[in-house]
Amino acid sequence: ETLANKIAAGEVVERPASVVKELIENSIDAGASSVLIEIEEGGLKSIKVTDDGCGFAPEDCQIAFERHATSKIGKDADLFHIATLGFRGEALPSIAAVSYLELITSDDEHPGTHLVLQAGHIIAKGSAQSRKGTEIKVERLFYNTPARLKYLKSIHTELGKITEVVNRMALAYPNVRFTLIHEQKTLFQTNGSGNLSHVLAAVYGVRTAKAAYSFNGESLDFKVSGLAVHPQISRAGRQYVYIFINNRFIRNYPLFNSIMDGYHTLMMVGRYPICVIHIYMDPSLVDVNVHPAKLEARISKEGELCALISETIRKAFHRERL
Ligand code: ADP
Ligand code: MG
Repeated sequence: ETLANKIAAGEVVERPASVVKELIENSIDAGASSVLIEIEEGGLKSIKVTDDGCGFAPEDCQIAFERHATSKIGKDADLFHIATLGFRGEALPSIAAVSYLELITSDDEHPGTHLVLQAGHIIAKGSAQSRKGTEIKVERLFYNTPARLKYLKSIHTELGKITEVVNRMALAYPNVRFTLIHEQKTLFQTNGSGNLSHVLAAVYGVRTAKAAYSFNGESLDFKVSGLAVHPQISRAGRQYVYIFINNRFIRNYPLFNSIMDGYHTLMMVGRYPICVIHIYMDPSLVDVNVHPAKLEARISKEGELCALISETIRKAFHRERL
């Protein structure tokens, strides 16, 4: 059981940023309106995520650390059919298997619970006084899997990956307030107002947010909206184009290309825009066929969607008479 956890952990937990991603997703699933992420030494020493979500009922705490005990579905293809980000009941057991983990949680109906695990085994259990919500602290990640530990890069690199994850989640959920603190220093913060432009400003600065054109469009099957930053502020890489389907970050080359098409001749060769696009659709039109962490999506009626995206972005710039 513990060995299985350690092996499976390698799939879910690649580095500190993967822990941050899984914990934030759980907070979102718990209906949090505020998520605080506190990091020490790029997450290598500790990662603490505190939310104001629904919390765990006392009887659910232990179960959550048993592999697949909470699995919501059977196969990856169902990923977009469910309302929650988590679905396999794998993250918490996997993270716990390769760290020291401490959980403090309260659902506001029962006394709070305090649980401490070492390498997936519960070593202390008690009640706790706590406000509604959950705090999970992960320390000494990979302390018992030296091979994995060795593979990690510098604090600087790991912190960069964590920042990417938090930025992405903030862009996906503008109505959730995110705070990222590293060694007591606030690196990133959003206000949870639901205003995407504010989130963009938090990620890339006010100048970039001011240069962003908002767009909106819909077709029979799709709704798209977002912010396309004017090409005067462009980048040398593609990773500043964020595509979210039903609030889930995905990668999809045809969709990326349709965004580039929307920019058309405005973008210089070798340059890429900063752009955030939210796509909403019936979940039955989207499918993931690869590892869920990579989130490469396949979309039915892709042609319709691509045309809608290009046209909507093109219009946004046209409207503003670029
Ligand atoms: P999954 O998200 O796939 O269900 P996880 O291992 O990530 O699996 O989490 C297991 C379960 O623990 C969740 O289904 C949820 O019931 C509970 N849980 C985890 N994190 C939180 C949280 N922050 N607040 C409330 N419940 C949580
Ligand atoms: Mg989860």
